[in-house]
Amino acid sequence: MALEYDLVILGGGTGGYVAAIRASQLGLKTAIVEKGKLGGTCLHQGCIPSKALLRSAEVYATTKHSEDFGIITSDVSVDFGKVQARKNKIIDQLHKGVEHLMKQGKIDVYEGLGRILGPSIFSPMPGTISVEMNNGSENEMLLPKNVIVATGSRPRTLPDLEIDGEFVMSSDEALQLETLPGSIIIVGGGVIGIEWASMLSDFGVEVTVIEYADRIIPTEDKEISKEMQRLMKKKGIKLVTSAKVLPETLVKDNGVTISAEVKGTLKEFKAEKLLVSVGRQANVEGIGLDNTEIQVEKGFIVTNEFFQTKESHIYAIGDVIGGLQLAHVASHEGIVAVEHIAGKDPSPFDYNLVSRCIYSNPEVSSVGITEDQAKEKGHKVKVGKFSFRAIGKALVFGESDGFVKIISDEATNDILGVHMIGPHVTDMITEAGLAMVLDATAWEIAHTIHPHPTLSEAIGEAALAVDGKAIHN
Ligand SMILES: Cc1cc2nc3c(=O)[nH]c(=O)nc-3n(C[C@H](O)[C@H](O)[C@H](O)COP(=O)(O)OP(=O)(O)OC[C@H]3O[C@@H](n4cnc5c(N)ncnc54)[C@H](O)[C@@H]3O)c2cc1C
Repeated sequence: MALEYDLVILGGGTGGYVAAIRASQLGLKTAIVEKGKLGGTCLHQGCIPSKALLRSAEVYATTKHSEDFGIITSDVSVDFGKVQARKNKIIDQLHKGVEHLMKQGKIDVYEGLGRILGPSIFSPMPGTISVEMNNGSENEMLLPKNVIVATGSRPRTLPDLEIDGEFVMSSDEALQLETLPGSIIIVGGGVIGIEWASMLSDFGVEVTVIEYADRIIPTEDKEISKEMQRLMKKKGIKLVTSAKVLPETLVKDNGVTISAEVKGTLKEFKAEKLLVSVGRQANVEGIGLDNTEIQVEKGFIVTNEFFQTKESHIYAIGDVIGGLQLAHVASHEGIVAVEHIAGKDPSPFDYNLVSRCIYSNPEVSSVGITEDQAKEKGHKVKVGKFSFRAIGKALVFGESDGFVKIISDEATNDILGVHMIGPHVTDMITEAGLAMVLDATAWEIAHTIHPHPTLSEAIGEAALAVDGKAIHN
């Protein structure tokens, strides 16, 4: 028997489950169809497991240098089994939390593979969803008034560079490693590649990063990339930029050997393992899009600003629509979509106000545009920069590399972008995000009293530096 709903969400990742909770708050009868586990990539293969491993790596690296703090330790070593067990425990706890939230919101969860059957002449009702149940029981038929596609993404690889899970891995396999390799080649120096490079290097693995662009983390401000490059090299990571990996040269024999064309010269690299981290591809296949008018461009579902597809009652959110593939973006898109379905007239999402974070050691965070982008857009800019070296709390922490950079428009004093690299900057970027939401100027940030001693003083000083007034410069 078909079951009727106001809303059925395909995919219970961060985007899908947050949308379901908002829908339940708004009184919509809601169901989620999830073929894997509630929490999706972020909880099981992304944000949470990678940050748990990064934290263990950071503790190990700090403990190795504990003498700097006057603490004498001996025989510091990594028990990677325990590191993984800690990570799995955190995931389990959060997974139970999401299951509880579904029960609390009276959201029906169907464990199985969902597919859109209509609108089409074969469909009993536009938007019907069939669910091939994981437990093998008869397919369920769901009849929703609205659908949200939140099927997420999966790791991409290079043509002919096949992931075998043993020598060649994506982040999915790397997260399940039972032992640490002695050495690794990471193909791709973007956000995920640099987080892995930093973490593995802190665990004592010999790391080589091969990046196609002329700098690592190429979407960040150039000065941030440059500082990251310096600090990654200081850790002992080998960075090879402007390099095109040649998958056809891959040899697997007790490890991997692969060549890359680096600025016109062929170079060979060897390591125990190879991690491919060249982006993520949307899950648009096998979900019944052919039964609809929904458009897919460059592999991603196309939507309007309220996340409606060409079928106005079918919405799409999160990694499956591309753009900034981040958990907090997916969940916010889900909230906007649900509020639109419920007739609440939500404001469209301003992507310029989304904070972006890299949880490497040191961390990176940013909001708004880079200095180059500001100039390309025709802004005359004023830039304020302040180093953590002059911040007491950073010295107390023993982590004083990095800086805060604020880019402001010379004519209007609008803040165009804020970029940070250094200790705990992922926890500090929200101040800059809030300032941009409230249309604050650098003067207003500077006149928000930053307590002493805190790392946030670097933001206050960078704001003063925009007009040449930094105190501790
Ligand atoms: C290693 C790594 C680290 C990351 N770190 C961060 C971070 O620190 N911060 C951050 O903001 N983002 C991070 N991300 C990105 C983040 O994980 C994603 O942006 C986020 O998970 C996207 O959410 P989503 O709901 O769109 O998709 P997903 O989380 O991918 O969820 C989609 C869900 O849909 C299910 N599904 C797919 N097809 C079907 C179907 N036909 N029927 C039923 N179910 C289906 C899948 O099983 C999955 O559970 C990271 C990603 C990776 C890989």
